[in-house]
Amino acid sequence: MLTGSRDYDVIIVGGRPAGSTLAARLGMVGVRVLLLERAELPSLPGASSPIIYASTMRLLDEIGADEAAYAHNTPKLHFMVNDSPGMKMKLRIPHADGRNYAYAIDRARFDDALFRNAQRFPSVEAWDGFAVTDLLWEDTQVAGIVGHGSDKVKRTLTANVVIGADGRFSTVARKVNAQTRDEVTAHPTSLLYAYWRGARQTDEPCAMAYGENNGYGLLIMDSADDTVCVCVEGRAGILESEGDAEGRYLDLLRRTKPVWERLEGGTMVTSVRGMRKVGNLYREPGGQGWALVGDAYHQKDPIDGQGIYDAVYTAKLLAQAILRVRAGELSWEKALAWYDASARAETYPMYQSTLERVRGTLYSDTPEWLIRLGTLTFGRWILEDALVQERMGLMLVRKVAPNDVITLPVTIGALLRGPLRDLSKRLGAEIERIPSR
Ligand SMILES: Cc1cc2nc3c(=O)[nH]c(=O)nc-3n(C[C@H](O)[C@H](O)[C@H](O)COP(=O)(O)OP(=O)(O)OC[C@H]3O[C@@H](n4cnc5c(N)ncnc54)[C@H](O)[C@@H]3O)c2cc1C
Repeated sequence: MLTGSRDYDVIIVGGRPAGSTLAARLGMVGVRVLLLERAELPSLPGASSPIIYASTMRLLDEIGADEAAYAHNTPKLHFMVNDSPGMKMKLRIPHADGRNYAYAIDRARFDDALFRNAQRFPSVEAWDGFAVTDLLWEDTQVAGIVGHGSDKVKRTLTANVVIGADGRFSTVARKVNAQTRDEVTAHPTSLLYAYWRGARQTDEPCAMAYGENNGYGLLIMDSADDTVCVCVEGRAGILESEGDAEGRYLDLLRRTKPVWERLEGGTMVTSVRGMRKVGNLYREPGGQGWALVGDAYHQKDPIDGQGIYDAVYTAKLLAQAILRVRAGELSWEKALAWYDASARAETYPMYQSTLERVRGTLYSDTPEWLIRLGTLTFGRWILEDALVQERMGLMLVRKVAPNDVITLPVTIGALLRGPLRDLSKRLGAEIERIPSR
């Protein structure tokens, strides 16, 4: 099905992380690709805060994307700090895939760099400012797209396969009536974020999280061009106020003293963006003449900052599936089944872990006194443990599966080391208090 007399071998709808990296992977081996993006680039995507880890950068290395371009003037983040009542956790970004840092990238710059990277390959044509409005059908088979550029002139283009890399609200998924799977709506969250300039600097660039056990948390990240991205995520009901997102955002920032103190004297340099009731689901991977990738295929709460990785990783798998069909190794149906199984093996454990974290951190109704009394101490002993922190870091860069982070032996070790750590801190403080002669 991938060798026909159509205008293109593959048309990709959506030109951000999933679409651009898929186009590059196909372009590297000469597949004739048309990459279509509705927005004019560079521009910010609908809604996304900006954390990426070494796992994502390794995948970008494979397609020759230039780190100096996508992370231009962006500080390397070596730490993530969690500053919650009674618990301070400083998690060092572990060394993995040749890097020991993360970025809070400028998404407009990042997406544009990936789009330009795809254009380096002679068999890839990439048009921004082109909206796909419908699909072309031949009986039950998708055979191309209908759309228009800024001139609004309707154009029809044919391809052997049409890929929906068009995000959460995928037009392609809607037009083919793709079925959703594993949808979870139990703990809806919303997010609001904006970029600021002139915030007080920390000793080192980092991402700092603040939580108060009150249904929302804040994350402040050093980002490109001396900005910080300040993001609030919480139970949907808490973040959603009638109409005035900016007012609610500023109100929640003001209530978190260390964040507000850092921002005092600074200026908000973007509008407040965000998303209401973030979706958590998979969709079927494809059908006759079509497939889905990135958020169009699988979307989830961004609390763990894994969406871009999953988008770029599923793009890699889908490219492999297409190339296996092209080589005559698999039928399209078998290739889709392989793609789906491989994508789920990589993403599903993280999906479950993310949903669990949302429930545990934003929807936990543990009474304050219980937290103060015991849970917090045990929790602190575990979360402040060096081995646990290393394993959590390795999970974020996808080197340890979520279920293997805090195993029973790791927990026992942490609970033994925790009281000793407290004791030695206390002794240290006492010794410092002894007056020297
Ligand atoms: C609030 C929020 C915060 C997030 N924070 C993080 C984070 O810190 N780290 C992280 O890794 N992930 C984060 N994510 C997730 C991340 O943004 C997504 O997983 C990632 O952008 C998915 O990439 P994609 O290419 O699949 O889709 P998108 O980035 O959504 O790109 C889809 C593109 O398709 C285009 N398009 C749509 N319809 C059409 C059409 N009809 N014709 C042509 N083009 C079309 C759109 O214009 C868009 O540019 C966050 C998400 C949200 C909502």
